[in-house]
Amino acid sequence: MCGIVAYIGPRQAYPVLLKGLKRLEYRGYDSAGIALINDDNQLKVYKRKGKVAELEESLTGIPLAANIGIGHTRWATHGEPSDRNAHPHISQSGKIAMIHNGIIENYAQIKQELLNKGYRFHSDTDTEVLLNFIDDIREQNHCPLEEAVRIALKRVVGAYVIVLLDIENPDTLIAARKGSPLVIGIGKGEHFLASDASPILEYSKEVVYVNDYQVAIIKSDELILKNLGNERQTPFITKLDMDLAAIEKGGYDHFMIKEIFEQPTTVFDCLRGRLDAGLGLITLSGIEQNLETLTQARRIIIVACGTSWHAGLVGEYLIEELCRIPVEVEYASEFRYRNPVVGEGDVILAVSQSGETADTLVAIEKAKENGAFIYGIVNVVGSSIARVSHTGTYTHAGPEIGVASTKAFTAQLTVITLFALRLALAKGTISRERFLSLCNELSVIPDKIAQILDNAAAVEAIAQRYKDARDFLYLGRGNNFPIALEGALKLKEISYIHAEGYPAGEMKHGPIALVDDALPVVFVATKDAVHEKVVSNMQEIKARRGRVIAILTEGDDFTAQLCEAHIAIPETDELLTPLLSVIPMQLLAYYIGVAKDLDVDKPRNLAKSVTVE
Ligand code: GLU
Repeated sequence: MCGIVAYIGPRQAYPVLLKGLKRLEYRGYDSAGIALINDDNQLKVYKRKGKVAELEESLTGIPLAANIGIGHTRWATHGEPSDRNAHPHISQSGKIAMIHNGIIENYAQIKQELLNKGYRFHSDTDTEVLLNFIDDIREQNHCPLEEAVRIALKRVVGAYVIVLLDIENPDTLIAARKGSPLVIGIGKGEHFLASDASPILEYSKEVVYVNDYQVAIIKSDELILKNLGNERQTPFITKLDMDLAAIEKGGYDHFMIKEIFEQPTTVFDCLRGRLDAGLGLITLSGIEQNLETLTQARRIIIVACGTSWHAGLVGEYLIEELCRIPVEVEYASEFRYRNPVVGEGDVILAVSQSGETADTLVAIEKAKENGAFIYGIVNVVGSSIARVSHTGTYTHAGPEIGVASTKAFTAQLTVITLFALRLALAKGTISRERFLSLCNELSVIPDKIAQILDNAAAVEAIAQRYKDARDFLYLGRGNNFPIALEGALKLKEISYIHAEGYPAGEMKHGPIALVDDALPVVFVATKDAVHEKVVSNMQEIKARRGRVIAILTEGDDFTAQLCEAHIAIPETDELLTPLLSVIPMQLLAYYIGVAKDLDVDKPRNLAKSVTVE
């Protein structure tokens, strides 16, 4: 959600900013803009509603030589997407340009104070309010900009990354963060700022993750970090562990399909060094170092949003079944406002791809204050959730650029499965035999995912056949109910077709009223303990002329002949089926989106990393 880039150094800033904004496009945005201090020492701002490519086009022929600049892709929260609401904004004095990611919650009050002082606003954004607040403090106190920023931020309630460009100090960028992500790449006599590492990667692998309530004062050859109390803090330099190929399409048409096809590798990577099926060993440092806390947990609460919440629902089945610990799965955005009963003895599993999901972050901060133990399951190394958690396990799926999550989901399922198995062993709630059999089965899941992908063309054909449907129903039972939800979510996100996921057994209590001969109903009907029940539900749909598409187990010819279309997946242990059954769901959504000629990597209105609440 929203992208921030900035550059200071000997290079031309504009190409660096432009390329950086393009790298951040996947996060989701509606407008784009840049500000530069050009070689004639003028502060120039160019911004507009629409894509980065349109901004680029509008700038052809304009001289843009500059060695310092800031760039932004906006995901509107305050004020519609428009040229005037796009960032960067310029302060009333005309001296400062600022970009902002996040929300200033108390902006209305500050705005009123500024209006009373005679300030006028040219946008509807909270950003312009904060900017003029900073500007006003500097003018009143005749203090350096960094000091004005610190004073202003002490009053601000909300989440932000801000980066400021100041005509009075054309060799310095000022940045600060709370709640939203900011990475600073360290080059030779140059610095790169961005919302995540992807725009920095091709220039530098050494980065500093700015912490909450830190202000960064950045010159080409100097980086100073201070807290809001003006005390200097040592920048902690981290080495980036990814390469450029990971963030490029590598011959695929879209990131989403590339990422779907990466899953045999990403699941394997996620298991590597953690699962030794031969020895019957699972090692997760997060568990080994906190065995007592985890085995004694009175309850596990999984807190997540969107696709990660679906991974959490699968986790509920796994952990309750294997560890016999009660599990609750919560939407982070609901959990945090509900005054939940949570405290010592509770373990929170915080699941998030980006590790920056604002709702999840705030929810776990609150639970942590109350004494709960936080176990983070995130993909992005060094992200905020990873840092707030007491311990955790990275999913190691590599950068996920497609907005609709795919490989991050299967990696989350893999980690949660390892977690449940390791904890069950420690608690003694699983027999050695069952543990070994699940370990063995888990170790061959990557190959089985590859087998399903070999059959992608069959799913593409099904997509062609059903792409014009107005609605879809997705049904599953047990641990495949969350997969029905995930299938429906993927389809909604990518194809804008209305889709609902439902427990198959619950269908007759309402959604069955929707069934007619125009409604495709996608069943997860693999061979498991509830298979017969699911087949009965299928019959109920057929009796009302619904069009049944099923994901079923290879060799199940009986179920296959009940369906209009089917996709067969290899047999596996019932507890691990979601790792396989979700793959056709992802492919179906992708191919329908492509067949409808939609922008599958950047669906409308969606953001990849949801950094606002
Ligand atoms: N709240 C700001 C706005 O509406 C920033 C949104 C963003 O993070 O892009 O302009």
